[in-house]
Amino acid sequence: MAQIEASQLARISVRGIVQGVGFRPFVYGLATRHSLKGWVCNTSEDVKIEVEGEAEPIEQFYSDLKTKTPPLARIEDIAISYHPPIGYETFEIRDSVADEGKYQLISPDIATCQACLSELLDPHDRRYRYPFTNCTNCGPRFTIIEDMPYDRPKTTMSYFRMCPQCQAEYDDPLDRRFHAQPNACPKCGPQVELVDSHGDLVIARGEAPKQTQDEIPRLRSEQAPQSHSDPIASASQLLRQGKVLAIKGLGGFLLACDATNDTAVKELRQRKRRSSKPFAIMVSDMDEARRHCYVSPEEEKLLTSPQSPIVLVRWKEGSSVSREVAPNLEYLGVMLPYTPLHHILLRDTGLPLVMTSGNISEEPIAKDNDEALRRLAGIADCFLVHDRDIYSRYDDSVTVVERGESQVVRRARSYAPYPIHLTFKAKQVLGCGAEVKNTFCLTKHNHAFLSQHIGDMENMETVEHFDNTISLYERLFRIEPEIIACDLHPDYLATKYARELAQSGRKLIPVQHHHAHIVSCMADNGLEAPVIGVAFDGTGLGTDGHIWGGEFLVVDYHSFRRAGHLEYLPLPGGDAAIKRPYRIAIAYILSLLGEDTLDAVVALSRSSVIASEAKQPQLAFTEQLNEVEIEVIKRQMERGINSPLTSSMGRLFDAISALIGIRGEIDYEGQAAVELEMAAYACHCEERDSSLTLGTSAGISDKQESYPYYIVEDKGLRVVQLADLLSAIIEDLQQGTSRGRISLRLHNTVARMANEMCHLIADETGIKQVALSGGVFQNRLLLRKTASLLESYGFQVFTHKQVPCNDGGISLGQAVIANFAAD
Ligand SMILES: [Zn+2]
Ligand SMILES: [Zn+2]
Ligand SMILES: [Zn+2]
Repeated sequence: MAQIEASQLARISVRGIVQGVGFRPFVYGLATRHSLKGWVCNTSEDVKIEVEGEAEPIEQFYSDLKTKTPPLARIEDIAISYHPPIGYETFEIRDSVADEGKYQLISPDIATCQACLSELLDPHDRRYRYPFTNCTNCGPRFTIIEDMPYDRPKTTMSYFRMCPQCQAEYDDPLDRRFHAQPNACPKCGPQVELVDSHGDLVIARGEAPKQTQDEIPRLRSEQAPQSHSDPIASASQLLRQGKVLAIKGLGGFLLACDATNDTAVKELRQRKRRSSKPFAIMVSDMDEARRHCYVSPEEEKLLTSPQSPIVLVRWKEGSSVSREVAPNLEYLGVMLPYTPLHHILLRDTGLPLVMTSGNISEEPIAKDNDEALRRLAGIADCFLVHDRDIYSRYDDSVTVVERGESQVVRRARSYAPYPIHLTFKAKQVLGCGAEVKNTFCLTKHNHAFLSQHIGDMENMETVEHFDNTISLYERLFRIEPEIIACDLHPDYLATKYARELAQSGRKLIPVQHHHAHIVSCMADNGLEAPVIGVAFDGTGLGTDGHIWGGEFLVVDYHSFRRAGHLEYLPLPGGDAAIKRPYRIAIAYILSLLGEDTLDAVVALSRSSVIASEAKQPQLAFTEQLNEVEIEVIKRQMERGINSPLTSSMGRLFDAISALIGIRGEIDYEGQAAVELEMAAYACHCEERDSSLTLGTSAGISDKQESYPYYIVEDKGLRVVQLADLLSAIIEDLQQGTSRGRISLRLHNTVARMANEMCHLIADETGIKQVALSGGVFQNRLLLRKTASLLESYGFQVFTHKQVPCNDGGISLGQAVIANFAAD
């Protein structure tokens, strides 16, 4: 009788990413193992479980449920209650129950798992070399979902009817493919084809190639298939010949070429109209990654994670990857294959491949076959296409490991649409984001759904992509925003979009750009208490009408106070100056040190004495310089015509980069500052030598190794004066100090400046928590130095993790602030 008395019923509710990730079969297996009876069922908001049995097995079951979850599942919330037993006789998986208005979290797309990879490479498996192999632990999710609940008819797989074998896997609760919605095999699933730029078939599966034998050289690899009637094998041959291929992936088309072939990479750059912005590469495995880069254990963990993002890692000197892939950079963006198609292609090719978004300059990534053929015709020689449609377009995510932690720099594939968790119960708000690197953010309950990287809002294609993706998120997560947040800048297309939306009676909340940056960092770290916000950024409109970007703020979710900033300096020509940093250098010298100093600098750089860097004798600063332009700049400054004032830290880095001859004109956003960082970084590494894996050492050892500046205070507002700094740099130039050394000293100075300002603000406010945000903190050396210095003085420092520190994180900050502003 004791046995019956011990028997009980437990009701369990599990929330999080628990659907479409093999969770029910996992529960079924657990219940069976612990000899429990009952059922498991998906509802619109959770997975419900009832198990009946003795207390101890139930306890073990409950513990296993939490600790042994399948790799893709994420439990956010779990609750259990005990009841008298009902007398279940079996354990079963019950049909899903749909519920209006409720929403579930959606799993992002996930890289091919080990089990699927083994099948893919096994010549005896029915999925040998089948490029759409997947299971409940891996494969496409978000990119193929049209609506919820997540079921095959509501995905782009609805077109394919499963063969009996696939159906049997799909129906078997103990199979790895139980309810794997994209389940497919060579008999019943999508197929690839190789087509030329006119869309004419070159090779379909099983067909003989049109080319003659000469055009398709023998494959080097022994394991490659003997038949030429294999589109992927043929594509790999073309890549080996130096051709550019467009390859349909998960979230869109990628452009690929041999990363070790200078000519091929240059050709791709020319066709894509992207002269020097770095490309990412894909390598077949970790061994290959290590051949080209220094990879720390944390970086390896990130590279091989189910998200399989691009990781920026330190490039080895002797790597065979062409320097054209990332000109003048010390870091290389590397990723591993994340779909079966990539695995086969990389193995067949036997080379690291450039993999870059399939677009021209900054347009959205192409996703449909017709669209790709139209838009990429002038770029790709051939197209590896397939017939599984992409519903939602997204790019590859970019990450770094800094100070031992991973940080997302571009948040897209495999990260979105997983939400950021908020510490408060949010209203339904839409944050429309910024102009460049746009994302939007929708909040509901304790979730902030930050969109994937949308792109620069400069053309109609991107705005359309933005609009469509907002609709998709609203539909998937059942959100109807009542409040719309936007940037203060009236000319941003995202701001205009927000204003239009608000005309339908919804409340509009404009948010200052750097307030949004800091709150984004706070929300990223789950902080609510006030912080000192250090926002080092390129451009953001301030409340006084000037361009901010070197800001020290006291911030909470409701409001902010500007406690300090870099002094205002002119930006003659506005946006034109941003593309030509040498103009900024001229303007800064003129306004801080006067004409005589400018003359002296020009004379110095024309005499071209820069010690220890004989290979670049001429300062880029003066290469573009002529008297007429200097006169124009002077006039613009005097009259204040098209010469806005800025306190931007990004512009200070640009100006110094131009001044010391690193980069006077740029091809991509941030280039001058990035190359300045690289110069400092090389110098920094030489010194510490040593830390190949980028140790955390960042101490600023010697006061000699930084420049003077001073801070003036007026009614609680502190302004950093830069004349001494600029003057000292010019002195260093005159003495022949190397660029690397000057750059390193500048980094040290800015870190010291941040530390000193934070001390002044902490003395006044008592706040010891500092949040670092803004695009300038993509500068890893600066981030490391600033954070370490602040920490060594007892500050608690918060940096970005799940959300970019650049403008990709703005929409989160906007949405959070609007939640509180609307009270
Ligand atoms: Zn799998
Ligand atoms: Zn099948
Ligand atoms: Zn910004």
